[in-house]
Order: sequence, then structure tokens, then C-alpha cells
Amino acid sequence: MQATLSKQTLPRLDELGTDLLLTTRSQHWLALTRPFIGLACYCIAVYFGQWWLAPIIVFLIFVAVVTVTHDVVHRSLGMTQRQTAWALFLMGSVLMESGHAYRTTHVQHHKYFPADEDEDPEGYPAHIGLLGAIFYGPVFLYRLWWWAFRRNKKRTGQRVWMIVEVLIPIIVFTTGIFLWKTMPAILVYAVLALVGSWVPPSSWNSPITWSTTFILRCPATTSPNSLAASIPSSKRRVCSTGMSFREEKAFADMSRN
Ligand SMILES: [Zn+2]
Repeated sequence: MQATLSKQTLPRLDELGTDLLLTTRSQHWLALTRPFIGLACYCIAVYFGQWWLAPIIVFLIFVAVVTVTHDVVHRSLGMTQRQTAWALFLMGSVLMESGHAYRTTHVQHHKYFPADEDEDPEGYPAHIGLLGAIFYGPVFLYRLWWWAFRRNKKRTGQRVWMIVEVLIPIIVFTTGIFLWKTMPAILVYAVLALVGSWVPPSSWNSPITWSTTFILRCPATTSPNSLAASIPSSKRRVCSTGMSFREEKAFADMSRN
């Protein structure tokens, strides 16, 4: 399948319709505020003692953060450089993850997947099987952070962001432990977010995810007009394969030819 697809000419974004790139200001704000709306919902739920809602809300926050951070990384929300830096910091902070480290490894991922760990640390779990990826989950983000930190050796500004971002989980967990008796919601949230961050590497190994990942990241789609990279999430009415309906149709048409 890989060989077949790489030989074919994939449709360009302008062939599919550049209106895919157009999003409204309100869509931008909704995408950016959704994680914080989720946090507010979490606070309300635990305030009223509805702890059973906690994992569900944290899962939805996780999805909201991953979605918008991907848009921010690919600059598809029309933000300035400074706004992008702050958005990476704030969105990552919601899950106690480093948005700047993610940007470094994710851009690399689009360029080099499939490659070994040195070239593409983000895609590495796709090569070690489901069981390997499950065990790799707990160290995944730390390895990405360390890779990104070394990668930005000459970019002090990026390193400062990353150092601040890596302190956030330490602060949250410490606070959560100290306030456990009076405010258990902090530590519960931190644990749920941490455990949630172990799951994505395993999902790389599902056959559907893997094939989609390849399609969206093969050389033809990693140009500046990349389908996967350019289209904001608000325009991506995602199908079961993770592609937007229009992308799926284009790929289906391509496969028939
Ligand atoms: Zn991407």
C-alpha cells in the first residue's frame, strides 16, 4: 500500500478547494477556549461531587487540546509568532505537557515518518508493536521533550519555554499532594492527565491509524500545501480514518484511478 501510494500523485490542496483553509474568528476562539471550558466543567463536576464525570471530562479536554495544538503547530489558525508561542504554552499547560517540544518533534515527524527514533521520535512507537508501545507510553513524552531540548541547542528562547513547561507537571503534582486532603481534585486531574498521555503511542499501532498516518505524512503531503498540515480542525469533518470527508473522497478517487 505504501509503495502504491507513494508512486501516485496526490491531489494538491488547491485542487480540493482552498476554502478548506478559511475559518472564522469565532471558530478560532472556540478552538482555543474549548480546553478551558473543559477545565471549568471539571471544576463544576467535582465541586458537586460528580467524580464519575472526571475521566470523561479529562478525555474530552485531552481531545480538545490535541486538536487545537495541532492547528497551532501548523499555523492554521492565522496566529502571529508571539501568539503561537503563547498558545503552545497555554494549551500544553492544560495537560501539563510541553507545547514547544511537541512543535519541534511534530514538524520533524511530518518530514521523516516513517524513520527511526533519532530521525522521528514521535513516530517511533509505530515501529515497536502494540505491546512495546504500551510499555513505552509512560516515557514517551519525556523522551520527546529531551529530544526536542537537544534539538534546540542553539535556540535559547525555545529552551526557556521548554524548561518552564517541564516545571508545570512538577508544580501541579506537588500542589496536588500538599492539598490532597482539602482539594483532591488537583491530584486526581493530574493523574488522569498523566495516564492519558501514556495512551497515544499505543494508538499509533492500530492498523487504521497507521495507514492513515502514512497517507497523511508521506512526502507528497508534507509540502507547505500539505492536506494534513494546512487544514484547520474546524474544517476537518473527520471520518473513521481520521481524514476529512473531502480528503477521503480525493484519496478514494485517486485509489480508483
Ligand atoms: Zn501535523
